[in-house]
Amino acid sequence: MIGNLDHRHREATVIGAGISGLMAAYTLKRQGFKVRVFDSASRPGGLIRTRATLFGPAETAAHSLMVNQSVSRFFSDLGVKLVPVSQGSTARYIYRNGKMRRNPLTWWESLVTLRRLFSRPTTLIDPNRASLADWTRAYLGEAVLRNLLAPFVTGVYAATPEELCLSIAFPTLIPVDPRRSLFWNLRASRKMRGIQENARPTMMTPEKGLGSVISKLADHLGSDLVLNHRIETLPDTPNLIVSVPPLELARLIEPTDPSSALALKALKASPLVSVTAFARKEDFKNGPPRGVGVLIPRNEGLRILGVLFNSSSFPERVLNPDTVSMTVMLGGTTDPGALDLADDEVVNLITRELGSLLGLRGQLLHWETTRWTSAIPLYSEALIEARTLLLKGFCSSPGRVVFSNFSKDVSIRGMIESLRHLHPSTHP
Ligand SMILES: Cc1cc2nc3c(=O)[nH]c(=O)nc-3n(C[C@H](O)[C@H](O)[C@H](O)COP(=O)(O)OP(=O)(O)OC[C@H]3O[C@@H](n4cnc5c(N)ncnc54)[C@H](O)[C@@H]3O)c2cc1C
Repeated sequence: MIGNLDHRHREATVIGAGISGLMAAYTLKRQGFKVRVFDSASRPGGLIRTRATLFGPAETAAHSLMVNQSVSRFFSDLGVKLVPVSQGSTARYIYRNGKMRRNPLTWWESLVTLRRLFSRPTTLIDPNRASLADWTRAYLGEAVLRNLLAPFVTGVYAATPEELCLSIAFPTLIPVDPRRSLFWNLRASRKMRGIQENARPTMMTPEKGLGSVISKLADHLGSDLVLNHRIETLPDTPNLIVSVPPLELARLIEPTDPSSALALKALKASPLVSVTAFARKEDFKNGPPRGVGVLIPRNEGLRILGVLFNSSSFPERVLNPDTVSMTVMLGGTTDPGALDLADDEVVNLITRELGSLLGLRGQLLHWETTRWTSAIPLYSEALIEARTLLLKGFCSSPGRVVFSNFSKDVSIRGMIESLRHLHPSTHP
């Protein structure tokens, strides 16, 4: 969240009814604020939507989240039931040399990595400016970068470690003392943040899909949520929370804060094609996929970035237990052309590649394709610059707040944690 509320006033206007704007409005309404939310679309939710199909629900964007205490409290207050990932289906895989592996490193690479974990870095990095790739090379080496970190980053940001700035994309990895080993730094960082060894968040999903969260938030707002209403110029109200994508924010603040607007226009976002695909269990040569999913490094010769095994993690994701639901991701910053593939090209591609990856032999039963030209904002140096300028410019006066998936955290969990800054007793 960038900026602070003006708590002398008990009213707020929120622009954008994506999950961030809705959650901010809900939090303020519970504090007794008079809130109005405007969205240009005919339905709330922005990127998030759960489509009902004959085979099970299909998410257009977020499908699960990491749940800690504050996230769990938020959902229980809202009245949304969360389901944990199935016991025994928690394995995450990375594809290497034609096989899904829990540890994609060779035994020699694992040994070298273990040694590196306890050794000083090979180069000194600038923690504020280093890319995630610089950090990995310094502390863990090239094998970890290519085979573990790059696919993981692709799974979260649909981008490469070279494109992401460590300090904003993975702030918990910022070294406390850049000259010490990674092991030392991870322990020091956990200690500083007061995290106990066993306080790990759990992967969960709302029982009725992410769309049910949007419906609950919208119901809570009732007639204070105004749809089909595009804000053209910023209203002059005491508290304004802007929860729209960067380019739209740039357009709105340009007349009063041209420097921040210019920086926002320079931001990049990854393009993504997300396909929820349903197949018969019996059509998998070696049985249906089990676990959370698989990520694929770019040098494996496949175009698929990753596959989530929806119905293995959450059995409610299929209506018929003899079927399987998967979410397949294509595109990202390394393959923007995937967005131009026609529907039949997408299906042929994923059917063929799911054959190599998971041994799928038959045809898919059903699929739902969503194309996002700007899916995930890139947490790059340009974003640091834009945030700094916004703090000095548009957000410098109380009551001017930017809260969206680029203001601090792209994940819903991170957004929920940021909501505490809307409380009068908290100073960000
Ligand atoms: C494929 C995919 C998978 C993902 N998976 C996960 C996941 O598993 N877990 C997770 O935590 N996160 C995930 N995410 C990220 C998460 O879904 C997003 O970060 C989040 O939904 C963004 O919400 P938002 O409210 O910030 O933005 P948006 O959803 O973009 O909402 C912005 C809203 O502003 C409105 N608007 C724009 N301009 C105006 C205007 N001038 N006036 C009025 N309204 C306006 C738009 O209509 C829109 O409703 C995923 C994202 C994608 C794309």
